[in-house]
Amino acid sequence: MKRIYFDHSATTPVDREVADLMLEYMTEKYGNPSSVHSFGRETRKAVEEAREKVAALINAAPNEIFFTSGGTEGDNLAIKGVAYANRKKGNHIITTAIEHHAVLHTCEYLEKQGFTVTYLPVDEHAMIRMDDLKNAITDKTILISIMFANNEVGTIQPVKEIGQLAKEKGIYFHTDAVQAVGNCPIDVKELNIDLLTMSGHKFHASKGVGALYIRRGVKVEEIQHGGGHERNIRAGTENVPGIVGLGKAAEVAMRDMDKKVAHIKVLRDKIIAGIIEKVPHIKLNGHPEIRMPGNVNFSFLFIEGESLLLNLDLKGIAASSGSACTSGSLDPSHVLLSMGLTHEVSHGSLRVSLGRGNTEEEVNYFLEVVPEIVERLRSMSPLYGSAADFKPSNPCSSCHHHH
Ligand code: PLP
Repeated sequence: MKRIYFDHSATTPVDREVADLMLEYMTEKYGNPSSVHSFGRETRKAVEEAREKVAALINAAPNEIFFTSGGTEGDNLAIKGVAYANRKKGNHIITTAIEHHAVLHTCEYLEKQGFTVTYLPVDEHAMIRMDDLKNAITDKTILISIMFANNEVGTIQPVKEIGQLAKEKGIYFHTDAVQAVGNCPIDVKELNIDLLTMSGHKFHASKGVGALYIRRGVKVEEIQHGGGHERNIRAGTENVPGIVGLGKAAEVAMRDMDKKVAHIKVLRDKIIAGIIEKVPHIKLNGHPEIRMPGNVNFSFLFIEGESLLLNLDLKGIAASSGSACTSGSLDPSHVLLSMGLTHEVSHGSLRVSLGRGNTEEEVNYFLEVVPEIVERLRSMSPLYGSAADFKPSNPCSSCHHHH
């Protein structure tokens, strides 16, 4: 059976070009970049060239790029690093309720150490309100950490306005741009971003490598101690194959950005229009326009996203859902709940995230099978039978019959 991959927000395939280069830096060019001999000098040069390419992708300077093991580490280093280094200035951090757990759990951890954190609410489209942000700022605020684009519903935050406000107030601005980097154009100078997290495996580099951009002059304390790698910010022998691959992926992303975004947007809009046309009782989640080029997220009322997901998988289509039923927890996505969705509607959500390799033919196949599956699942759903008096309400009742 032909398999269709519609889960690029989870991870992407490594580019062949990237993989070839990585192999070369594992088997032939394997020196430790800290070594003074020719083997070491060869990999040092490659790491620094990768730094230039990664910097260019977001319009940063090479010495503002620090290689990490990925998005989770980048978020931890940015938030804890700024918190610890600026503790004398203040102990207040502002973030949002819809961040990835790498940010949320880091903030919760800091709360146990005497920091206070404001979790901004979002509107029905998962967008923060600038007034809420302005009102949350106190003279103790040292950091604003707001994601660039949401990983579940694709909404892009008003990053430029946030950066402008943070600059005026003298507060550091960190953005988790894991979903955005390599998938839409970003200019950290124009947007007044002080720290930015990226992760290689979301744009065709490998898993386990990423980078944190730290604007020159921003005070960050290291959280991992050891040798003086990455100018004392991130100790540990450099992941040379990963880093060289990240550089190549950044170069490719920059080169192909416009073409890629245009291609993916066409497919996204076709899916959105197709689902709206063919399936009744649905809700598009996320902002209707200000969303990532490859993100589609729908709630299908009266059914569970998990069932839809499993049925799509049987047809060879890989997508994702916002419900955590299979993980043994009854909690639906904190993102969907923050947007005001009920537990029932959250449980019926499906995320499709497109990549540059997807085709119109795949989209057509998806639009053929989804209405059939949804209709079949609904015909078996006790909820659908009583659709007339369906009142979406908490608590989560749609899950219980599974457990
Ligand atoms: N932040 C966001 C918004 C993400 O989507 C992800 C990954 O799904 C991460 C952080 C974590 O990145 P990594 O998997 O590289 O640790």
